[in-house]
Parts: sequence; structure tokens; C-alpha cells
Amino acid sequence: MNIIMIGAQGSGKGTQAEALQRELGLRPCASGDLLREHIAKGTPLGQQAKPYVERGDLVPDELVIGMILDFLRATRSQPDARGVTLDGFPRTIPQAEKLDAEMAAEGQRINAVIALEVPRALLLDRLSDRWICRAHGHVWNTKTHPPRVAGICDLDGSALYQRSDDTPEKIERRLDIYFNETVHLLDYYQRQGKLTRIDGARSIDDVTRDTLAAARRAS
Ligand code: AMP
Repeated sequence: MNIIMIGAQGSGKGTQAEALQRELGLRPCASGDLLREHIAKGTPLGQQAKPYVERGDLVPDELVIGMILDFLRATRSQPDARGVTLDGFPRTIPQAEKLDAEMAAEGQRINAVIALEVPRALLLDRLSDRWICRAHGHVWNTKTHPPRVAGICDLDGSALYQRSDDTPEKIERRLDIYFNETVHLLDYYQRQGKLTRIDGARSIDDVTRDTLAAARRAS
């Protein structure tokens, strides 16, 4: 089963992707994390993507799409493969169309699309107080979901950091792209009958319950 999580930065997609992994065995595929790994390793893709990620702009499609298709193929070839949760891809209609075409050509499909809806003011709060763990990308928030010890991940003890694109100016830029561009994907997947909208402004447990229910309905 393959699921797409759609939502603005800070809507909780990554947290829900972790729940889908835990409960349904779906492998998270976060395009932003993959790009940051390439940048950290200095791969050719990372070098090309770096200036876009640093500005908070979208990385050109030809770079991102190939990276995601490679991830999907690698996951499928694993013996215990149950599917993936895409988080952060697609972000535009051309990316969604390309994904549909490439998956169809390989006999695959997206089963469900889950949109986490969160008001912009709340997203701004969540992102400016967001801290992420170095080891596994677990997400904490100093106001709403603080770790027990400041600066340390409860789950694996690794150090927490703030992303370089979580500054007020870049957050606004990234949210503009989401609300002007990515949001059109909701109509795209609504027309395909795959979309479930979830109120992402509630507690993590409530959102997780609805996310898992939507995924199970699609399986
Ligand atoms: P994220 O971690 O999802 O907020 O992504 C961080 C950054 O990676 C974005 O601001 C973009 O620069 C880049 N990025 C991630 N996913 C995509 C995508 N689907 N298309 C283009 N750029 C992307």
C-alpha cells in the first residue's frame, strides 16, 4: 500500500508517517530528509539541490522525481516490503502527474492521500519552536510537545537541532509555496477519489487515530 501525506510544513506529516510505519509497516519517504542527506554527503544531487533548499524554494522536478522513483524501486525490492508513505512529495501538479504515470508504468499505484489541515498561524508557531533529533528526525516543540530534557530527544537520547530553513523569513516563503501551489493537489486527488482531509490542529493521538483509519480503509 502506498500513501501520500499532504500538509504544510509543521502540519505533522512526519509524525503521522512514523505512526503508519509502526502500525502498518509502511516505509516513510520524506523528500526533504532525502535531500538534506544528499546535501550532507555532498553528492552531485545534493550539490545541485543545496541552493534551492537553503532559500526555501522548490528543487527542480527533474532532480526530485528521480530521487523519489529510486527510493520507491529500492523499497519494492526489499523482501518485507509493505509500501511507502510519501511525505513532502509530490508538491506540485506536474510532480503528481509524473508520479502517477511512472507508477502506472511499473504496475503500482497510490492507494490513499491524506491531507492534514492546520491553520497558518498555528503552523508558524509550531515551526518556530520546532526542534529535531539528529539521529532519527523525531520532532519536538518547546511549547506544545517538549522533550523531558531540553535539547535531548526522549526517544533516542540524541541532540536536538533547529533546521536552517526554520527561520521566520524562510518559514513564510515555504508556507507561501504550500498555500499557493501544493494545496492544488487536494483537488487533483479529490477527483481521483483518493483524498481524506483530517483536522491536524488536534492532539497527535486524535490525528493518528484518523490517519490510521483512513489508511486501513484504503488497504
Ligand atoms: P521539507 O523537509 O519537506 O520541508 O523540505 C525541505 C526542502 O526540500 C524544501 O523547502 C524544498 O527546498 C526541498 N523539497 C522537498 N520536497 C520537495 C519537492 N517535492 N519538490 C521540490 N523541492 C522539494
